[in-house]
Amino acid sequence: KEQHMPFAEVLAKRKTFIGPNTTLNYKKPLHLVRGEGCHLYDADGVEYLDCVNNVAHVGHCNPAVVAAISKQLATLNTNVRYLHEGLCSYAEQLTSTFPEPLSVAYFVNSGSEANDLALRIAHCTAPGASHVAIMAGAYHGHTKAIIDLSPYKYDGPGGEGQQPNIHVLPCPDPYRGTHLDGRKAARAAIAEAHAAGGRICAFFCESVLSCGGQIVLPEGYLKEVYEEMRAEGALCVADEVQCGFGRHGEYFWAFEEAGVVPDVVTLGKPIGNGFPMGAVVLSPKHAAAFANGMEYFNTYGGCTAASAAGSAVLKVLQGERLQQHAHRVGQHLLAKLEFLKQEYECIGDVRGSGLMLGIEIVQSKASKAPAPAAAAHIKEAMLALRVLMTVDGPNANVLKIKPPMVFAEPDADRMLAVLTKVLQQGIPEKVQELDRAWKPAMPVRELRKIQLQAQQSHQQ
Ligand code: PMP
Repeated sequence: KEQHMPFAEVLAKRKTFIGPNTTLNYKKPLHLVRGEGCHLYDADGVEYLDCVNNVAHVGHCNPAVVAAISKQLATLNTNVRYLHEGLCSYAEQLTSTFPEPLSVAYFVNSGSEANDLALRIAHCTAPGASHVAIMAGAYHGHTKAIIDLSPYKYDGPGGEGQQPNIHVLPCPDPYRGTHLDGRKAARAAIAEAHAAGGRICAFFCESVLSCGGQIVLPEGYLKEVYEEMRAEGALCVADEVQCGFGRHGEYFWAFEEAGVVPDVVTLGKPIGNGFPMGAVVLSPKHAAAFANGMEYFNTYGGCTAASAAGSAVLKVLQGERLQQHAHRVGQHLLAKLEFLKQEYECIGDVRGSGLMLGIEIVQSKASKAPAPAAAAHIKEAMLALRVLMTVDGPNANVLKIKPPMVFAEPDADRMLAVLTKVLQQGIPEKVQELDRAWKPAMPVRELRKIQLQAQQSHQQ
């Protein structure tokens, strides 16, 4: 058996040498040493089913992707200032998955960088306009400019709150039937900008609201918002960092399901299966507006190894028909989750498609009051049974399922069996008590406190 550093030692080194607000998941953090497909292994050789990692899109350590990156790294790895057929053919392959007129790519190193670049492009396509419209609960990345577009962060602990040039559309909630009118929401945001003496240069929105709680937008919602935003002269940016690359099953890009063609699409996470990269895809017209004389250069963006990684991911996705696979497994999961919803009072809603699903945990079906403590409890209890889940949403009460796309029916059945077992044991009274402290529009820091208490009270 391979020797690993003892748990306590890794933890101590981490506390000493890693910045203190780099947080760890779970009450007892996982010390992972190996991954394969949708399985992870800790230093003691214990195996876990990964229902969380949407970066390892074609499977942890996919051999074809690893081989392509390794081969390229051993041959040549340099930047976009040289001609390399790998970069050009990758850009051709990637853009061929998009509808017209989205045919040009810029390469970056992460989802945050992709959104940061999209914001810069918007400033070029709508000169003089400096306001931005976003969705409530959104997360678009960690750079200074993009934190300002991320209520998920700026409203949370340590955040500086909403900046005066940012306008927030309320998160549509089809489960509770609120904020479903996109046109009304867009017009209100535009009017708010005008009242402040500004104009909106960009509207950023995930095609499926992942951090917003796996919300599938109401039919026609995005189309209406886009119409209003375009009439204002704003660029419509679709953040497909989480929901793209076939994850949504029926379509390769989630914006296709929403019935729109964005002006700019930002990509990250799954694009390189863990190799750090991202991209911005747009039309030649908008690319020309961005090419205002200032050179675009990014040391690693589009480097030779990144192009090899991206090409290999597309090849595996297409060769193994993983989009179709995600669609099938997702339907199987949804059908069984619907069945669990009938059985258990705490499951208010199940939603999504493909391998991007949400289970909304509530205090009761009648009240639909969110249950963040119960959600945190279920996550911890599932970890004890070796299934990794995550929780998200503005009320921190949506269990998310977004595994590597190789997740198959037996994996789905294992996850469902573990979830059922946890639900059968019931939500402990002290956890339910914590949830009764939930209030509408509760500040994020209060929600986090409830979650943490639920996590701490969990007995393994
Ligand atoms: N957009 C969305 C929707 C995301 O979920 C994330 C990451 N969680 C980002 C952007 C930022 O990506 P990265 O962490 O690669 O910078």
